[in-house]
Amino acid sequence: MVTQATAPDRRDTGESTMKHVLAAAIFLVAALCAGRAGAFTFADGTTTHCIARGEVAMEIYAEPTDPFKPQNRTALAERTPNGWQITWNVERLKGLPPEVRDFLFFHECAHIRVPTEVELNANCAGLKDMRAAGRAGPAFEARLRQFFPPDYEYWNETFRCADGEPKAPPAPAPAG
Ligand SMILES: [Zn+2]
Repeated sequence: MVTQATAPDRRDTGESTMKHVLAAAIFLVAALCAGRAGAFTFADGTTTHCIARGEVAMEIYAEPTDPFKPQNRTALAERTPNGWQITWNVERLKGLPPEVRDFLFFHECAHIRVPTEVELNANCAGLKDMRAAGRAGPAFEARLRQFFPPDYEYWNETFRCADGEPKAPPAPAPAG
């Protein structure tokens, strides 16, 4: 299907446009030089940051060759001298089902937001945050649970914990 719309030809390739192009190029180079730090991309293509106590947690994307990649795990949330940081093991992250990957963002962020080093607490708080963000709910959670054994006490306890408190008012629907 050819639906190549012909965009209005904007021939305003004047100096200001050049400056914009240059600025964009410089920004891109700066972003690349900054390494693998960045936002988290959900399965639907939208991006987000982990914000705790008003500060954005640094996210590092460790490639397979990176000596600092979290060993034998998909992610590591930890305190650094400059704040908090989530290091993602890119190779492992890529291998996860989209539902698990999206949830894992909230799990890791909850380690920082609560803060807690207890896995169950992070899982519970992460699920609550994901619901509050409008990204979890019965349909999503049913799919998520399919990736784990039904008698997995860790997940059963996660849902008991997340369901156990009074429900927060529904988050406003995103515009559009
Ligand atoms: Zn964890």
